[in-house]
Amino acid sequence: MQDSLFNSTGQSEPGQTVQVAVPKPLRQLFDYLASPQQLARLQPGIRVKVPFGRQQLVGIVVCCTQDSHYARHKLKPISDIIDDTPCFAADTLALLHWVSRYYQHPVGEVFSHALPALLRQGKPASPVTENIWQLSELGQQTDSVTLGRAIKQRQILDYLKQAPSTAQTVDQLNRQWDNWRDAMRRLEEKGLVRQTQQTSIFASTVKPVAKALHNLNLEQQQAVEHIRQAIGKHQAFLLEGITGSGKTEVYMQIIIDVLERGQQVLVLVPEIGLTPQLVERFERHLHTHVAVLHSSMNDNERLNNWLAVQDKNNDTRAQVLIGTRSAVFTPFKNLGLILIDEEHDLSLKQQDGLRYSARDVAIMRAHSANIPIVLGSATPSLETLYNAQQQRYTHLLLKQRAGNAILPDIHLLDVRSQKLEHGLSAQLIQRIRAHLQQGNQALLFLNRRGFAPVLMCYECGWLSHCPRCDAYLTLHQRARRLRCHHCGSETHIPHHCPDCQTDGKQTELNPVGLGTERVEEALINLFPDKTILRIDRDSTRKKGELENKLQQAKEGNIDILLGTQMLAKGHHFPRVTLVGILSADQGLYSADFRASERMGQLILQVAGRAGREQQKGEVLIQTCHPENPLLLDLQHHSYPDFCKDLFIEREQAQLPPYTYHVLIRAEALDENAPIEFLTAAKNTRPVIANKAADNIEIFGPFPAPMARRAGRYRYQMLCQSSHRSDLQQLMHHWLPLIEKLPNRKKVRWSIDVDPQEMF
Ligand SMILES: [Zn+2]
Ligand SMILES: [Zn+2]
Repeated sequence: MQDSLFNSTGQSEPGQTVQVAVPKPLRQLFDYLASPQQLARLQPGIRVKVPFGRQQLVGIVVCCTQDSHYARHKLKPISDIIDDTPCFAADTLALLHWVSRYYQHPVGEVFSHALPALLRQGKPASPVTENIWQLSELGQQTDSVTLGRAIKQRQILDYLKQAPSTAQTVDQLNRQWDNWRDAMRRLEEKGLVRQTQQTSIFASTVKPVAKALHNLNLEQQQAVEHIRQAIGKHQAFLLEGITGSGKTEVYMQIIIDVLERGQQVLVLVPEIGLTPQLVERFERHLHTHVAVLHSSMNDNERLNNWLAVQDKNNDTRAQVLIGTRSAVFTPFKNLGLILIDEEHDLSLKQQDGLRYSARDVAIMRAHSANIPIVLGSATPSLETLYNAQQQRYTHLLLKQRAGNAILPDIHLLDVRSQKLEHGLSAQLIQRIRAHLQQGNQALLFLNRRGFAPVLMCYECGWLSHCPRCDAYLTLHQRARRLRCHHCGSETHIPHHCPDCQTDGKQTELNPVGLGTERVEEALINLFPDKTILRIDRDSTRKKGELENKLQQAKEGNIDILLGTQMLAKGHHFPRVTLVGILSADQGLYSADFRASERMGQLILQVAGRAGREQQKGEVLIQTCHPENPLLLDLQHHSYPDFCKDLFIEREQAQLPPYTYHVLIRAEALDENAPIEFLTAAKNTRPVIANKAADNIEIFGPFPAPMARRAGRYRYQMLCQSSHRSDLQQLMHHWLPLIEKLPNRKKVRWSIDVDPQEMF
């Protein structure tokens, strides 16, 4: 990963013009003048303030050069130098240049994306002081019951006890409760909680204690041994372990090994997986504070954590960073290992603006830093499996469940000719009853919230279309609203059919299909003496509600858990022995070729919730296609066979991972504008003087699967090639031409390299 722009890697040559990347959607660097005094202070990666039109922008110096293509008198001087030392070291700068080129995104915007918000605004790169709260010794020993009727105080104490050694910031507490300060003050007065002010919790960073984990099984030990041998050089690993096989224990052991060498570790996790409990688990195992970066932290916290990783002082530097996708850009002082958990998860891909895959950027980063990277998953993506087949990654398998847990039995329930009670077959209801009678929990999964996906008039056939999208308005019975899940439009439930005016109360307006709200209602009627808990985006809107509900579910006071994929991922419910998947069919016949892969991953994730401790679990999947070979593979827990079938499909259709995609999207209020723009773009396609150009196929323009969304018409054009580099070369020459098209201003358009969704 070399870049001609700064072969001088970090050393500024004497000269009078400097090249600066500014946060604008422009694919170029800009020249500015620097005085000799300024030049002495400048090096690549330093932030400067520069005039740009009538604005003052915060830019990043990319190189200090003597020559400029422009006459000196046309150049403007740098207004101000913000940093004494670079915000990005040479290796991070090189990575960001690669990201800009590979994802065809303006370099200044890539740099800006990689900076914490406060630094983007030009604030100093030094830690910000914050108030933090933590349990005292007394607080750790005190049972919240002793606080009597002081409900809020009890809640706070219980919350702090979930992660006793972690200090909580204003922001974290605000996320839990609207009013917590009075109760917190009482807890402080009672000596149960301590409030302190710290610039960084890493000021007290404890040296990690090396501790071998003795309870690893043979497979885990072998995986650790393989990865251990790669420490200090580059090698990529796929760690494929079925749910409950103890991937985390493998991670922990490897992290300890890397920390012992005095190197740091970056752990990337999906958004939904980054919980306080996860952070606590790492801290407990590693005996050190870990830095954390995710989207819902406040700006101060983000800056402090970002800086802690590159702290020059060995004693206060954070050794481990756990973060969601954008953490992949964080500069480290001495990075020694990257781990990605749930590498198949869609949230690792950014779907707007800079459309990058954090997994793929991480692989590039590990490669150029010459360090190992481990991709972990129970259900790896086909792309990653393919790389393992091609021997680009070392494939490590964990096939046994850790401890004594055994895999659940999976059964397909043929519901073709059955009368379903709000989506529940008689057999499923009977099995729920049986499991509950034994004092166990049942978990039901349906990936659709609301009461029903559409409302229909039985008199004239009217359907509740969204006026702004090619989609239906979902019926939300309890809120008495029809809502669009794509654009947010909503309206009350009509009393009369809008078309034929039939009175809706006389049951002519009927919900069609199934949502979690409807199933919940059916369950309440079927099991009136049981506790039922629904977890989806609608039932967890209030602060802290999701955490509270998950806690209730884990404590086992709930009989039936019902939810969307919020329930499926990563949570451990010890008493769940039955998992019911209400419908597997959505993913089988979709317009998106990745839908079946996602369905399989989701089903196995949900199935993994069944019977994780001493009791054997049972999984029931309702389907109208019980003969479908993909479902039969899943029934046998055979993710490898499932993938083998998908590989055959993909190879025959010449789809990724056998080919590579770049998607050009365009949308506008006027339906013709995106078609005209994409057609014009297609016509400007340059001829690359190379046989490779023949290797590229361009499909479209064609309408997006949802052809209209929020009032805008959406079209796309797909570029496909069996060689990634050919596509890169084409885009590199083609984009400047597209950017000059006169009708580009009539549309919103974007480039998506390696798109993950065709929406
Ligand atoms: Zn009607
Ligand atoms: Zn809509």
